[in-house]
Amino acid sequence: MAPETSKAMDPPRWLVKLVDAEGSRALEKAIHGDRLEPPEIAELIADTPFHALAAAADYYARRVKGGRGSFTVNIYLAYTNICITACSFCAFYKPPGKPGAFTRSPRELALAVKKAVEEHGVVEVHMVGGNNPELPFSYYEELISSIKEAAPKTVLKAFTAEEIWFIAKQTGQSTREVLERFQELGLDALSGGGIEILDESIQERIAPKKVPPEEYLRVHEEAHRIGLRSNVILMYGHIEDPIHVARHLYRVRMLEEKAPGFISLIPVRFNPGDTPLGKSRLYREKARLDGQYDLRIIAAARLALLGAVDNIVAYWVSMGDKLAQAALGHGANDVGGTFYKEAVISAARGGVGGGKSPRELAFMLSQAGWEPWVRDTFYNYLRRVEPPKLPWMA
Ligand code: SF4
Repeated sequence: MAPETSKAMDPPRWLVKLVDAEGSRALEKAIHGDRLEPPEIAELIADTPFHALAAAADYYARRVKGGRGSFTVNIYLAYTNICITACSFCAFYKPPGKPGAFTRSPRELALAVKKAVEEHGVVEVHMVGGNNPELPFSYYEELISSIKEAAPKTVLKAFTAEEIWFIAKQTGQSTREVLERFQELGLDALSGGGIEILDESIQERIAPKKVPPEEYLRVHEEAHRIGLRSNVILMYGHIEDPIHVARHLYRVRMLEEKAPGFISLIPVRFNPGDTPLGKSRLYREKARLDGQYDLRIIAAARLALLGAVDNIVAYWVSMGDKLAQAALGHGANDVGGTFYKEAVISAARGGVGGGKSPRELAFMLSQAGWEPWVRDTFYNYLRRVEPPKLPWMA
């Protein structure tokens, strides 16, 4: 099946009949490619009959992507875990001077990248770090230059909009100046973290010192306008309600319509571990832990972003393998990457750590009915991967 743009696609008759039978106005709008308002997206997450929602999202995921499921071969690097932002959900950061705090040298990271390219065929470097007030601007310049020198053909997807905002504040520059300098040195795309939910009332509770949602979106807009594409996450499963998730998806869509450049949306389930948020009463009272909630969010994301952002990632690092595989039948088309080394999420006790081989990811995709492909950061499909067969399949 050839990939198709999701704009202006007519739904098949069977889907129209199914949706008619369920009488969901929001779903009816969604399958005709109309933009949904936040209350309608919230309805998809909270109330819409699950089988109809899942069928619509899975249908469009496969149609938009032409049946190609994907992942990239990447390495996940953290250049520092020192951070002064102290988000309540984060088990990764250390305040300056605390045991376990680290900052890696540009040379050390460049060597790790070189090795990963030579030994594992890595095509993407995914690099993020904490908001470390001790780092001068020259550190970031050297970091980008060293990695690009060590692996000139490897895509460098690094820094969240939050990091760009922090670096700009610390160094007395505008965010645009920081973005332009990083791009000039070889930064290829922005990574998607740095915000949890694009809703002021939630961010003020869980990450009050972080970049405000409007500023976060402004940095992405600036990046898109200078030709630097970006990704965006959505962290769910803590103290949010469906309407907050809905607002997040709506704001992502609105920005994409205004200044296109988003590559993918990556829903990330919150792992409580030993974090203050995980131990809070509000989390214990509100958190929705059932797997259907995850799948509803994936499906709602697919439909809310139909015609705007075509790639919805089932992030196995936070969902675990089996739920990620289920997500591939509910609107997701991609499992992220191999993440040969991953630091941020596995630092939370209860998180899933470690990397996966391309064959493992190909197996996950093929068993969910997708053709497994290795892609680059921008979803150019590079090669089809033959998934391993279990002995009983031979
Ligand atoms: S999520 Fe990022 S900004 Fe927040 S404390 Fe952790 S490392 Fe710092």
